[in-house]
Amino acid sequence: MRYLFNEWDALKGRIQGRYLFLFLDFDGTLAPIAETPAKAVIPQETKKLLNKLAKRKHIRIAIISGRSLGNIKNKLGLNNIIYSGNHGLEIEGPKVKFSPLISRGYKIALKTIKNTLARKLRLVKGVILEDKSISLSLHYRLVDDKQVFRVKTIFHETVIRYLLGDRIKAKEGKKVLEVRPPLEWDKGKVILWLLARQKFAKYGNKILPLYIGDDLTDEDAFKALRRIGITVFVGRPTQSSKAKYYLKDTCEVTKLLRGILEIQSENQKCKK
Ligand SMILES: [Mg+2]
Repeated sequence: MRYLFNEWDALKGRIQGRYLFLFLDFDGTLAPIAETPAKAVIPQETKKLLNKLAKRKHIRIAIISGRSLGNIKNKLGLNNIIYSGNHGLEIEGPKVKFSPLISRGYKIALKTIKNTLARKLRLVKGVILEDKSISLSLHYRLVDDKQVFRVKTIFHETVIRYLLGDRIKAKEGKKVLEVRPPLEWDKGKVILWLLARQKFAKYGNKILPLYIGDDLTDEDAFKALRRIGITVFVGRPTQSSKAKYYLKDTCEVTKLLRGILEIQSENQKCKK
């Protein structure tokens, strides 16, 4: 894994003159991780940069988040952006809208799991159960360290019978456990789908995908883009990530967005 700004000159050369498809995770990438999902805020400068980038003709932006679609749209509130919630299961943006077919059996299972977890965890301080409509998140960031093992055990005991029957999928992220529909769909699949759509639309091989993310679910995207795009992990460099580059924190992500905007401005100047 290489530090992105050590290779910035080479990367600039790669980005110049291309149609850039920018895929961005939200929590831990654009907005610093907060105590609770509700408290996470995107810095004003980052938001302004995204707004400017979204208006550029040769840039497309998609936010790929684990939050629900409604929630991520509210958090950003920008136009001309593709929003994808629930790790790619819901998509909405200019000329695109998608939501998965969810079976009745899954909905019933999800509701039962939610009620069971709420009951079994009611005495554990700090647990947040977030109903994301087609999925469920159990956040334990605020739970006392000594209680985390107990929370995880209760979660796994509750979901196991649904997992074995292929009625749900269970995933883990940063201080969060999730129940999702039993579909073969992840952040990697959704970005390849969005890219294919855009290619057929107009720009063919001129498209350069760039993905930035910080969590386990972003690894599917890093894998998907390994040979065809620029992949950036946010956080301490780690052997286990498939991303090629890393940035230290969300401030450096903002710096990268500023850099991309400058390249694009240069492009426009040249054309005049
Ligand atoms: Mg994240």
